[in-house]
Amino acid sequence: MQHNRFGYWIEEAGAVEPRPPLAGEREADVVVVGGGFSGLWTAWYVRQLEPGARVVVLESEEVCGRGPSGRNGGFCNAMWLSLASMRERWGGEEALAIGNAAAAAVKRIGAFCEEQGVDAWWRPAGYMEASTAPAHDGSWERALTACRELGVPEAIVPLSPEEVQARCQSPAFRAGAVCPDSATVQPARLALGIRRRLLEEGVEIHESSPVRGFEAAPGGVVARTEGGLVRAERGVLAIGGAATASGGPLRGRLTVASSHIVLTEPVPEVIAEIGWTGGDAITDCRSLVDYFRTTPDGRIAFGWGGGRIAFGARTRGRAEVDAAVIEATANHLYDYFPALRGRRLTHAWGGPIDASPTHLPTVTTLGAGRAFVAAGYTGNGVGPSNMVGRSLASLSLGRADEASRLAFVDGASPRVPPEPFQWIGGEAIRRGIEAKEEAELAGRRPGRLAVAVAKVPELIGFHIGR
Ligand SMILES: Cc1cc2nc3c(=O)[nH]c(=O)nc-3n(C[C@H](O)[C@H](O)[C@H](O)COP(=O)(O)OP(=O)(O)OC[C@H]3O[C@@H](n4cnc5c(N)ncnc54)[C@H](O)[C@@H]3O)c2cc1C
Repeated sequence: MQHNRFGYWIEEAGAVEPRPPLAGEREADVVVVGGGFSGLWTAWYVRQLEPGARVVVLESEEVCGRGPSGRNGGFCNAMWLSLASMRERWGGEEALAIGNAAAAAVKRIGAFCEEQGVDAWWRPAGYMEASTAPAHDGSWERALTACRELGVPEAIVPLSPEEVQARCQSPAFRAGAVCPDSATVQPARLALGIRRRLLEEGVEIHESSPVRGFEAAPGGVVARTEGGLVRAERGVLAIGGAATASGGPLRGRLTVASSHIVLTEPVPEVIAEIGWTGGDAITDCRSLVDYFRTTPDGRIAFGWGGGRIAFGARTRGRAEVDAAVIEATANHLYDYFPALRGRRLTHAWGGPIDASPTHLPTVTTLGAGRAFVAAGYTGNGVGPSNMVGRSLASLSLGRADEASRLAFVDGASPRVPPEPFQWIGGEAIRRGIEAKEEAELAGRRPGRLAVAVAKVPELIGFHIGR
């Protein structure tokens, strides 16, 4: 098994010629720091809204899309399962506006692939949440009620145990629910596809260009790298969990957790045998979520959101390559699909998760409206980053419109504790939740300590799960 930080999607998407690092000084209308989905979509929509705008993208990796955007599960979901949480936070009208915008974003990504000739393995499919323990039955009810009350009753469809098994047979599944407004993608292909189209449109992209300084300047902002600087009227920081690292603009607002994936060899006969042929992307209902999907070449990608917390948001190391977490992830895979025991796992990888206390993304305005920072997707950014990128494009062009007014823009968010308490507390809670959920799945009563620790986030106003 090949186990590294980049994984299968990036390998499969193939090599591209990296863009040269920034050298010297540039003037731009918008400078975008970070070439993941949020940054790339921002650049794309800026050019869609103002074709003549000068946009410069600065990415620290050798090629854009090598962070979480190119390594994730490829679940491209709307946000309907978060509708109840959004309503609690922002009220019904605002929550519905975001729900609709996120659903539109999923469709827009599909349309982008088709219209722009990007083969990102886009496949419209259901996103099914299946319960795997009595304690998790009906986890979708809160969201389902919100959907019904807010006038989108078809956004989540409850499924009986038989209906769940008809979509995918597993001895672990009980009842479930499906969100039809969903799709799967090959994420690295999608990131490289947006990058290619941006370059063709004349957007300037510099790779191997970590931004070391980002500050206000007369009439705008300046982004500095080792080799140069970009002066722009407005700037966007789309740097994922790095926004919460020491000195970052979202310090104290996010925790960096991690998630890890294993990939099987092609097993098309197993997929056919269990009837998993409709392309559904599936999760269980755990807080430390198991998520799995098929690929067009007949493999199963299986991920677990139970990776370690990264101290001080430092992402290299076990947030990205973690043999123990990969072993646990593979064991979960075999619990779901016993027929896979003995089949080869070809790839394993992982990456950081920018976890916000609300479980929801936010855009924060910096420097008197000259700069914006977006993060906090909490492992659900593939679809929503398109919506957020569209909002960032409006904001960075100084436009007040529907996209710039969505409630995640400058919505208040609770703080996370400073280091080392964030890491110590985060790891203790992660282990408490893990112990509680493992007991629930095994049909045992969870220990009192695990239950008490797992409740801590709720007590301090943090939202774990949707
Ligand atoms: C293993 C895993 C599985 C996941 N599965 C799913 C899934 O199935 N569905 C889903 O919706 N979400 C999933 N996610 C989450 C999803 O990948 C993210 O929410 C999404 O990619 C966030 O995109 P982003 O552009 O905001 O951030 P990122 O992808 O983190 O991009 C930020 C970019 O900024 C660059 N950068 C950082 N600092 C600097 C700097 N100083 N200067 C220049 N560049 C910088 C980074 O190199 C990176 O390329 C998963 C994440 C992981 C790790």
